[in-house]
Amino acid sequence: MRESFALFSGDAYHTRVKRRYAHILVDLDNTLLDFGVCEKRIQEEMAREFGYMPRTRDGQDLTTAYRAINGELWRAYERGEIATEELQIERFRRLIDRLDVTAAVRPPEAWFLNMQFIKRLTACAELVPTADRVVPDLAPIVAITNGFPEVQYPRIQASGLARWIDRIFISEEIGAAKPSSRFFDHVLAELGNPDPSECVVVGDSLTSDIAGGAGAGMDTIWFDRSVALGSHAAHRPEGLEPTWRITSLVQLRDILLV
Ligand SMILES: [Mg+2]
Repeated sequence: MRESFALFSGDAYHTRVKRRYAHILVDLDNTLLDFGVCEKRIQEEMAREFGYMPRTRDGQDLTTAYRAINGELWRAYERGEIATEELQIERFRRLIDRLDVTAAVRPPEAWFLNMQFIKRLTACAELVPTADRVVPDLAPIVAITNGFPEVQYPRIQASGLARWIDRIFISEEIGAAKPSSRFFDHVLAELGNPDPSECVVVGDSLTSDIAGGAGAGMDTIWFDRSVALGSHAAHRPEGLEPTWRITSLVQLRDILLV
């Protein structure tokens, strides 16, 4: 794994216009779009509006609890074990089970919370720091995302990134999710079957972006956000070696523009 730490002033890049890879495949959530910020804002907003406590019985805050539950269910989705409809309801059912309801109004039902969550998420398109400055330099890029079309298309539009994105691949539309080879085979076919060595995958998830890209024979850039967020680094599965590791999106210029 190589690390890119060199930072240049913005001007240095205007002379470097050649892209190292013909196709730059970029994940959306928590790579370009700051899903974490939206998620936290919406969870707190819903607890306030619907009158339940923003914490679990054992004192955990709502967002932390939700993330653990949601993450576990998404891993199951990536393994093809559950469908998205089940994932969507189940995450709120499990969250409600853990809520501190002793002193609060009983929260609404899981399906309702999920519906509210998705509706609000659709309107939230916070960018990861520097995405708005880096993506135009790399454009055109290809978006690859595990998600729902009714959520992702409006968010891409609202984020201002749409004009830099050439193609958008959404797992729900393809019928297969990252890291499956079906997802990446579909993307390659749609791009006109380039050699995988001409493609690079950029993403924050080791299990979906990096494992999937590597499995398809592509180079990979792991966006490790643990440094910026001050959180624990993700556990890297045995034998999974990203080609590069970055801790800030600005490092993409050094790697992808030559
Ligand atoms: Mg992601």
